[in-house]
Amino acid sequence: MVKAVVGANWGDEGKGKITDMLAREADIIVRFQGGANAGHTIVNNYGKFALHTLPSGVFYNHTTSIIGNGVALNIPVFFKEYQEVVERGVPAPKVLISDRAQIVMPYHILFDQYEEERLGGKSFGSTKSGIAPFYSDKYAKIGFQVNELFFEDTLKEKLARVLETKNVLLEHLYHKPLLKVDEIFEELMRYREMAAPYVCDVSAYLWNAIREGKQILLEGQLGSLKDPDHGIYPMVTSSSTLAAFGAIGAGIPPYEIGKIVTVVKAYSSAVGAGAFVSEIFGEEADELRRRGGDGGEYGATTGRPRRMGWFDCVASRYGCRIQGTTDVAFTVLDVLGYLDEIPVCTGYEIDGKVTTDFPTTGLLEKAKPVFEVLPGWKTDIRGIRTYEELPENCRNYIEFVEKKIGFPITMISNGPGRDDIIYR
Ligand code: GDP
Repeated sequence: MVKAVVGANWGDEGKGKITDMLAREADIIVRFQGGANAGHTIVNNYGKFALHTLPSGVFYNHTTSIIGNGVALNIPVFFKEYQEVVERGVPAPKVLISDRAQIVMPYHILFDQYEEERLGGKSFGSTKSGIAPFYSDKYAKIGFQVNELFFEDTLKEKLARVLETKNVLLEHLYHKPLLKVDEIFEELMRYREMAAPYVCDVSAYLWNAIREGKQILLEGQLGSLKDPDHGIYPMVTSSSTLAAFGAIGAGIPPYEIGKIVTVVKAYSSAVGAGAFVSEIFGEEADELRRRGGDGGEYGATTGRPRRMGWFDCVASRYGCRIQGTTDVAFTVLDVLGYLDEIPVCTGYEIDGKVTTDFPTTGLLEKAKPVFEVLPGWKTDIRGIRTYEELPENCRNYIEFVEKKIGFPITMISNGPGRDDIIYR
């Protein structure tokens, strides 16, 4: 059975925690898209970890963690994270890297920075991890797959060809130092050394694992609204964040994905630019940000404060639909325990008309939130383990959201730890 864990919103929904929790019963955990731009925060017996490249399964002895072909693989970040995990007492995780995964090149990170500099006030708010230049090159067919590191002659020849075009941009558009073939080649040889022990034919491995009846988890990064096709284009990420892409980014048959667990956060947060209809500001936002997540809503990669908002039924319903949700995991609900009243965005007013359908970007920019206000429960719900024990207003909030989004909430997360979960 293959399960996917994906986000319905703008990312940071708590997918890391849900994956870590479901990984207990999994044999294999696969990252299938994205790169070191977003991070998962995981709290367990070994401490608190921010993972950017390693799958969340690395904390269990019984799992194999896989970096699929769809990932933007930053090899030094991977290597450093692996070492850090081991140095902090976690038994050496079993990790495999797809021989078809492509490599984030040192110049992808530079181009990401230079382009954001060039755009100034019109920038995307990129984390400058090289993700957009990486995927541009991948689809322009001038990227480098991990297996290419093992063919030195053709690698050097291709590198010279690619750097020729990169240097034109560096010289004439960005006015920055030029790239040297020998230097990048040497760096790639160091990458090869770091990655070599883990490289294998991942799709063949997974094919066999499926036939042996292994439990496989696909771990998504970011959320539906950051998907390049179905999200708030162009303020999106550069690889698909949808469960459907799990089949491609891991190299497995699409019909094997039997369960799609979509993680939905009990309030909203977003990073980067783009329309955010239920956004709140000032002291109201500061307080939610301070209390949010586990130690505040600040980016796991950049540390920058996240934009905050109330729960958005329109965005979440759409986000769940486009994922193909079978189960909703409703997270970080405990954080709302301080509020007397909780506004929920139930519609968008666009040009004087209220809609519950999530629109394309141009209309989204014009949307104003329609709020309904629900009573708060004013207690700390951490530690509660059964649905019936939750305060009535809290259950009402869950049931209200469930009705609005139209997908079953089967898990409720009421704390950052592995056991802070209520099954329904
Ligand atoms: P991801 O990228 O979707 O994995 O999201 P993050 O890593 O940004 O996770 C959100 C933060 O919320 C992390 O610091 C988690 O430890 C924390 N977290 C996850 N679930 C819960 C929860 O139910 N309650 C609280 N208070 N924190 C949570």
